[in-house]
Amino acid sequence: MPWFDKSLSRRDWLAVNGRLAAQSVLAGALVSGGVSARPSIVAAETPSVQSVQPFARYADLLATLKNRGRTWRTLGHAPDGSPLVAVKCGGTKKPAILISAGAHATEHAGVVAAVELVERLQTKHEVWVLPTRDPIGLGGFRHALSLGLGKPPEIASLEEAEALLRREGEVLLDDGGRLVVLIGDYGYANRGLYGGVKKGEDFLEPLKGRRLWFPSRAENQPASGPLERAYTLVVTPDGEVLHLNRFHDTRWAPIEVRSVRRLMAEIKPGLTFDLHEYGGDALWMSARRQKTDEDEIWERRMGTEAIAAVKLDGATLAGDDYNPGGFFERLERGLYWLDPGKRGEGYNLVDFAAKEYGPGFTIESGMQAPLADRVRRHLVLVQTAVKVFEERFA
Ligand SMILES: [Zn+2]
Repeated sequence: MPWFDKSLSRRDWLAVNGRLAAQSVLAGALVSGGVSARPSIVAAETPSVQSVQPFARYADLLATLKNRGRTWRTLGHAPDGSPLVAVKCGGTKKPAILISAGAHATEHAGVVAAVELVERLQTKHEVWVLPTRDPIGLGGFRHALSLGLGKPPEIASLEEAEALLRREGEVLLDDGGRLVVLIGDYGYANRGLYGGVKKGEDFLEPLKGRRLWFPSRAENQPASGPLERAYTLVVTPDGEVLHLNRFHDTRWAPIEVRSVRRLMAEIKPGLTFDLHEYGGDALWMSARRQKTDEDEIWERRMGTEAIAAVKLDGATLAGDDYNPGGFFERLERGLYWLDPGKRGEGYNLVDFAAKEYGPGFTIESGMQAPLADRVRRHLVLVQTAVKVFEERFA
């Protein structure tokens, strides 16, 4: 199907940009501190995209990069042998910008957006794009199962997947609709366990230090339909069920996290984006308290201008009464501060970036919207924040 079913013409974009510049002055004026309120938003530089598709397999993503003449650095290998890749693009100016996606493989719009940003992000700053942090999960539940089984399973539905888990697996939990089994060296579940299991529960004992996958299940999430993706959970050595956007500040960490940590230590990103999605149909993003006032003023300005730009682009922002959790503080519509100390579970990528390097944003598009709209939101948010970042270092 055509990708951007609502793509704007160049003229539309220019019209949007005119309004945006006016809005930007207002947005800048709202930010306290000694930062210039000069208009800066250039969503117009995000052109329409005609032919981008979701990636059925990780090999398709790599082939797309290759066909576009891109090379990458391999940071490590996932347990299925897949390279964990980082594409260097942008210019040479420091500080560098880090863009990551796909830590949760069910959230596919961020992955598609990251690959597009390799081509489309206009900046003089050095950029490193990690198009997916979970190649196994991107490949789907059949692929994840093939690691335990030694061959791809022939399953066509969630029901067949569940029957296979019972047939081939060592059942660890079968209770209240939740099925968890061990096949080979890996855990598999019929549905999500994150947040629903107490640390150290008895059935987790054989899973300590192992990965566990469950399938995408919802029919109303384009590019993440039933079995289409696998969500990777990691059970810590002391029996806590976490996922690949944790472990950034812990010594025991999966390779997908350790490889990113090493890259960050090398490039010291001055701005970090982590592209995610949530189950709703709107859009929001989170920032973190910063080490310095200056970082925080610029972070706030990047966030405010990015939200203004995406709103003008037609996005529905999460409602005034929306609160993603008790560890969030609302700054304005669509923009929150996340406090990892209140949340627990250690640091995610952007928490870690804020602690060590500087501002960053976790973007959450709503998975119920059409894929093209969701991808476009990520492009506009990143591009706008990067323009403000460039002003900071002009
Ligand atoms: Zn996520």
